[in-house]
Amino acid sequence: MTRQDLPLDFGDPSDLTRLRHELRAWLAEHPLPERRPDEEPALFLHRWHRMLHSGGWVGLDVPEEYGGRGLTALHQVAVSDELGACRAPGVPRIGYLAHALLEFASHEQRARLLPRMLTGDDVWCQGFSEPGAGSDLAGMATYARRAEDGGHYTINGQKLWTSYAQYSRYCLLLARTDTEARAHRSITAFVLPLDRPGVTVRPLKAANGDDEFCELFLDDVRIEAAERIGAEGDGWPLAMTTVNYERNALDTGHLSKYGLLLERLRRELHDRSGGLPDGIVSAVGRCVVDYEVLVAHARRRTAERLAGRTAGPESSIDKLLMTRAEQRLYETALRVLPDQLAEAGGAVYGEYLYSRAASVYGGTSQIQRNIIAKRLLRLPSTS
Ligand SMILES: Cc1cc2nc3c(=O)[nH]c(=O)nc-3n(C[C@H](O)[C@H](O)[C@H](O)COP(=O)(O)OP(=O)(O)OC[C@H]3O[C@@H](n4cnc5c(N)ncnc54)[C@H](O)[C@@H]3O)c2cc1C
Repeated sequence: MTRQDLPLDFGDPSDLTRLRHELRAWLAEHPLPERRPDEEPALFLHRWHRMLHSGGWVGLDVPEEYGGRGLTALHQVAVSDELGACRAPGVPRIGYLAHALLEFASHEQRARLLPRMLTGDDVWCQGFSEPGAGSDLAGMATYARRAEDGGHYTINGQKLWTSYAQYSRYCLLLARTDTEARAHRSITAFVLPLDRPGVTVRPLKAANGDDEFCELFLDDVRIEAAERIGAEGDGWPLAMTTVNYERNALDTGHLSKYGLLLERLRRELHDRSGGLPDGIVSAVGRCVVDYEVLVAHARRRTAERLAGRTAGPESSIDKLLMTRAEQRLYETALRVLPDQLAEAGGAVYGEYLYSRAASVYGGTSQIQRNIIAKRLLRLPSTS
């Protein structure tokens, strides 16, 4: 395996350097898996997740008592960085759900749920969005009615765009539990086992052919009070914690991949005989700037996390920067590597298609700008 220069050099302390070397040695002994022709992308990633966990490369910053390695965010960043640099498939995207449970679940719930989430024994999905409540999440209609004896709830409603629900055992579900309280105060979070009677999971095909999304129908689903995360009404802060981690710039595996693709574009243009396409040099130049800004950002966020700061509304800045970098890079890549377009199954083409969703998932770009205006700049609302 040829190693490229890594974008993130935090002036590694020695234990971090040791960790990077350990991971490289493990990768040398465990070649990256290939996706089988008949294997769904999600199942391939799940196989990779289990393989990584068996090597000790999942949940580095999760406390040991909950199945992690009890190290720091910096160790997790170093692992993402190394994996990205050798073009490994993505690191399992469970960090934001794990953080939500770490911050809001009881000790008993964390001890029971987190270790199996980290091993991949239990796959999880996130049941927030609904047909009428995506950006306006607080307007959700799914309702959990509490029984008079307080022991359980009955849930009715519909969720939409629930990624990987068809493969999941649990859904981190938001539902309204109060019709009187203000919208944000009336939302409660639950851990819903998806094999419960009354749950119907219907997969939807995405533009890139993947079967990522699902609709989730909930008809008189019984859920125990012990399956609630936090108190009634804690659902909104839990949701904001989840999305703040989801939007944060710490998934540095993407950075390594962008760096490698930029280098490929540079080499391709350098070696090309004849003229270059119009405007391509400035397009690549803008991609380089986006990339450098993201690297600087990832450093800053890592330093903040090490100083004990949790992810907050500033993650909206990261999300906008990541979206811009990703979308511009893949648009530019298709101009430089047009054969990727012809070969529709080509990796760059697949990444290009997925990059179009970056301005929607985890909250749209417009919503990120609203958050920056309201929460960071404290600007008054225009209406
Ligand atoms: C790849 C992918 C994976 C996803 N996975 C999940 C998942 O696992 N779980 C989950 O719960 N959801 C998931 N989602 C859903 C995602 O969170 C929503 O699509 C997103 O929040 C937008 O909601 P919406 O689609 O209902 O669009 P809408 O909220 O209907 O927005 C439509 C348009 O109006 C704009 N708009 C809306 N309100 C405002 C406003 N106040 N100011 C300015 N503009 C506004 C939006 O920016 C957008 O352009 C996923 C989405 C994608 C693309």
